[in-house]
Amino acid sequence: MTRPDDVETLVAGARDGSARAVARLISLVEDRSALLREVSAALAPTAGRAHVVGLTGSPGVGKSTSTSALVSRLREVGRTVGVLAVDPTSPFTGGALLGDRIRMQDHATDAGVYIRSMASRGHLGGLSTSAPQALRVFDAAGCDIVLVETVGVGQSEVEIAGIADTTLVLLAPGMGDGIQAAKAGILEIGDIFCINKADRDGAESTRRELRSVLAMSAGRDGWKPPIAMTVATTGDGLDALVEQIDAHRAHLRDSGGLQRRRLSGARREIEALAVAAVQERLAHVSGHADLESLAEQVLAGTNDPFAAADALVAGLERHDTQDNEVAVTDVTRGTQ
Ligand code: GDP
Repeated sequence: MTRPDDVETLVAGARDGSARAVARLISLVEDRSALLREVSAALAPTAGRAHVVGLTGSPGVGKSTSTSALVSRLREVGRTVGVLAVDPTSPFTGGALLGDRIRMQDHATDAGVYIRSMASRGHLGGLSTSAPQALRVFDAAGCDIVLVETVGVGQSEVEIAGIADTTLVLLAPGMGDGIQAAKAGILEIGDIFCINKADRDGAESTRRELRSVLAMSAGRDGWKPPIAMTVATTGDGLDALVEQIDAHRAHLRDSGGLQRRRLSGARREIEALAVAAVQERLAHVSGHADLESLAEQVLAGTNDPFAAADALVAGLERHDTQDNEVAVTDVTRGTQ
């Protein structure tokens, strides 16, 4: 039996297509486990293989149904698919969330589909650091494409766009979504707009409205976002949607946009991890004593917050130096 914490075996298992190994690795990166760094290092060589497609849109617009319909289409043409359902508002994860997602059970027995959910609240660096790690697990498993879908209500659209190569914005007729989209700044992040529930009244007018709003926006990476019309419940329009996703990927690759997006994603991820690490050290190193006395000084007007922050950071550096000196002394003693 595989030891659950043997990273090398797990990564080899993921490469061989073991769904269990994939699930276990995602749990490890999600739980901030002690093995996180080891897992991260083991996954680095295969990172970046899959095309990452983010699905965003208001609750009820059909994200879950569309994800499932997309999986079906992609499987028909033999592509290996990962699905990452992210709940940015919940600290809970796993079975409960997936258990609700009945439609995904159509794919549960398909060896070419990996489905995982993850929560991100309360995690080191949040969604911007936990999701990329999970994506690397799908890369290791050889996924051609990964669909990242948010569940629950949250302000996560922009974060999803930050980790996706292609961002799909879903709208539905009759929800006043065209106007809402313009307000929510969703127009800037959409690479493809998808009017789902196109079987409903008002689909055509929603498209007209969206088209006129989009005509005024510049688009990213020299790409004019197309509008797809779909009925996720029947699969109508899904072939065209897959073609548009592929066309966007080809455009990104040829224009250098893919490299640019991924570089800025990696920058954000590293920064988020670094900031989280500094926060942890501040809490650990300065203890509460420094911060407490600085807070009292600021409150008493004997210090200002900027100078206090400088003092806190300087305290951190001083502590690092002391740590090093201790380490050097230990080594010296060891060799005597
Ligand atoms: P989510 O909250 O965005 O994930 O939305 P769901 O995928 O759960 O869909 C919400 C509801 O809309 C469900 O009852 C679906 O069956 C229904 N639905 C999804 N897509 C379509 C569609 O294209 N046409 C119609 N008529 N209903 C749809």
